[in-house]
Amino acid sequence: MDRRLLLVLFLAGCAGPAPPPPTHTPPPAPTPAPPPAVATPVAPVASGDADYDAWRSAFRGRAIAAGLPGALVDREMAGLTPHPRVISLDSAQPEFSKPIGAYVNGVISADRIARGQRYRNDLPFWPEVEQRFGVPRDILIAVWAMESAFGAVQGDFDVVRSMSSLAYHGRRRAWAEGELIATLKIIQSGEAGRAQLKGSWAGAMGQTQFLPSNYISTAVDGDGDGKRDIWRSPNDALASAANLLAKGGWVRGQAWAREVTLPAGFDYSLTEGPKEAPAYWEGLGVKPADGRPWTAE
Ligand code: CA
Repeated sequence: MDRRLLLVLFLAGCAGPAPPPPTHTPPPAPTPAPPPAVATPVAPVASGDADYDAWRSAFRGRAIAAGLPGALVDREMAGLTPHPRVISLDSAQPEFSKPIGAYVNGVISADRIARGQRYRNDLPFWPEVEQRFGVPRDILIAVWAMESAFGAVQGDFDVVRSMSSLAYHGRRRAWAEGELIATLKIIQSGEAGRAQLKGSWAGAMGQTQFLPSNYISTAVDGDGDGKRDIWRSPNDALASAANLLAKGGWVRGQAWAREVTLPAGFDYSLTEGPKEAPAYWEGLGVKPADGRPWTAE
């Protein structure tokens, strides 16, 4: 009796409410539910913008030609409308309008430096990333700070909608359509779902703001868990950024800047001008601070 009671309690604990006591006449079996309707592609819903719908219809053909199933394209783009803020920001292009001095002054702060120094010393994966890709941690920390405030600000625009809006807008249509196809291919692969694919208004994703095509071609699994999670894993994001720089031609051990001494009365506004070769600066009396030749690393 005790054993039976324990068994009943155990089952009840596992399965939630205890089943009703048996009756002599079991209730009739419930009528089987009708089989689910066969899934059919979602017909694109008109957005109310005829130009947008025309673009979407044409893009659908290009996406299918690029290897995507029409049903996936229809599902992910059903009900989309152009994002007005994405289009207005795409028209403004503020990122390239600041002189370098103003840009640097605007992004350096005591807090940012302190956090960067802490991450430089505390994160355990730097030696492996530096050895594997040849990019120093200081460069990667700077990228991390600039792109997402060390992962804190990754953007919450739906990347599918951003890329659709940019493609529809047309200023960079071919590029944006390529990135939209890449985004849909990430969804198709199952590596990241639509809800995960959030980013800046321009579609840059994760802690180091990778474009979808960069993610497909260049993101790596830094922490070895089998996933390329540039959104939640700093190790994955920073190893991916190192891989992007390495693939872009980063030369292991080569310096990226030189400290110099300036002649009296040097016109600092020249540093805001076009890029010049060392001979130009030498002609103005600029010298390497360490006295070594310009070409030395
Ligand atoms: Ca990983």
